Amino acid sequence: MPSEQVDFAVIGGGPAGAAAALTLRRHAPQKRVVLLEAGRHEKPKPGEILPAVAQGLLRQLDVWTPFTAEAFVRSRAVVSAWGDEAPDERHSMFSAQGAGWQLDRARFDRLLVQSARAAGTEVRIGSAVRSAVREDRAWRLGLADGEIVAGAVIWATGRNWRLARSFGAKLRVHSHLVAYTRFFDRAPGDCRMVVEARPEGWWYSADLPDQCRVVSCLTDPDLGGELRQSKHWYRALAATRFIAPLVPPDARETARLVKAAGTATVDQAAGERWVAAGDTLFTADPLSSRGIVHALRSGILAAYVASDMIDGRDELARRRYAMIAAQGFADYVPALAARYAAAARWDTAFWNRRRPQLESRAANHAVSSTSYVQDRSQA
Ligand SMILES: Cc1cc2nc3c(=O)[nH]c(=O)nc-3n(C[C@H](O)[C@H](O)[C@H](O)COP(=O)(O)OP(=O)(O)OC[C@H]3O[C@@H](n4cnc5c(N)ncnc54)[C@H](O)[C@@H]3O)c2cc1C
Repeated sequence: MPSEQVDFAVIGGGPAGAAAALTLRRHAPQKRVVLLEAGRHEKPKPGEILPAVAQGLLRQLDVWTPFTAEAFVRSRAVVSAWGDEAPDERHSMFSAQGAGWQLDRARFDRLLVQSARAAGTEVRIGSAVRSAVREDRAWRLGLADGEIVAGAVIWATGRNWRLARSFGAKLRVHSHLVAYTRFFDRAPGDCRMVVEARPEGWWYSADLPDQCRVVSCLTDPDLGGELRQSKHWYRALAATRFIAPLVPPDARETARLVKAAGTATVDQAAGERWVAAGDTLFTADPLSSRGIVHALRSGILAAYVASDMIDGRDELARRRYAMIAAQGFADYVPALAARYAAAARWDTAFWNRRRPQLESRAANHAVSSTSYVQDRSQA
């Protein structure tokens, strides 16, 4: 089997992997960077709301100009029927950071990967990493058509944790949630995202470029099984007050997806010559709208950690990164719990079980993450 030697391998071409590759190329231009992406960025993907705070990261990655050329929908306002039935509208004009964006995610991910390629990354599309085996100061990655031996690896495979065992990491699931999502075309909008709490969970919708629209219902896996079937999904949609009117009668359903959307972390942010980034490191509830920003930010940081690893500053870099990751998670937990608490106005399974479960499990995790950091510093 042919085998190639590279300095850095980035596994996964989502926002985290692309941000890592872009940063590595900028920070260490003499090093060889390969990005391995299993898919082709052709299928619709949920995760459309990009908060305005992303602007600084896109500038840092030097992709701001191509990003603005894509003319994604500028997010005018967020409307939420959350704490009560009266909709609350927050106009972006009153936000310190201004308006965010409503993206076509496949197009956004493609743009980032194309930018990474233009910056000198060797991009392999349709190239899934099937195995990772530790060698002396390197990782041997197995692909369908060969092997890559990398001095350091950035693990950014999103919610696919199949390589966890190879890296010696463990997945911790803090809360379960599933998103039953459908995409439509011929469904123009007015640049607003709408969120509506319902007895079974919560819904969101946003208009996307080219008169498309995403509509998603998020609930617990054991409560939402029947939402896989169209008749149940459309019946539940019809019962919403603010989401249903956004789908006009002649809108055409173009795609449907069922995706895990709960909160999960890995027990180690980095290990021997590998570092996790994006959802692989910490996957957030979509209610927080922080997934893409976290992916970009952690991708950038992971690139510096990987670079330190091959420059012999392994231990310190890993410790700092673990500390930052643990802090990000500790901040997220109370903020999310407060958001759910604000909408708990039904005596239903979804609302009764969610808050205490997330709070207690997350508190345990915050303690164990901190002790991991302390253990490493004492070593
Ligand atoms: C329903 C839903 C709604 C959401 N809404 C929002 C939102 O509004 N705003 C927001 O910011 N976030 C949102 N998110 C979260 C956001 O989509 C993610 O946080 C973000 O995509 C994470 O980026 P990533 O690069 O870590 O992972 P991903 O985007 O998942 O990218 C990982 C990549 O790795 C590739 N891959 C996987 N395994 C392998 C392998 N073995 N070899 C090679 N490649 C591999 C995959 O094909 C994929 O392209 C939402 C998520 C869900 C489920």
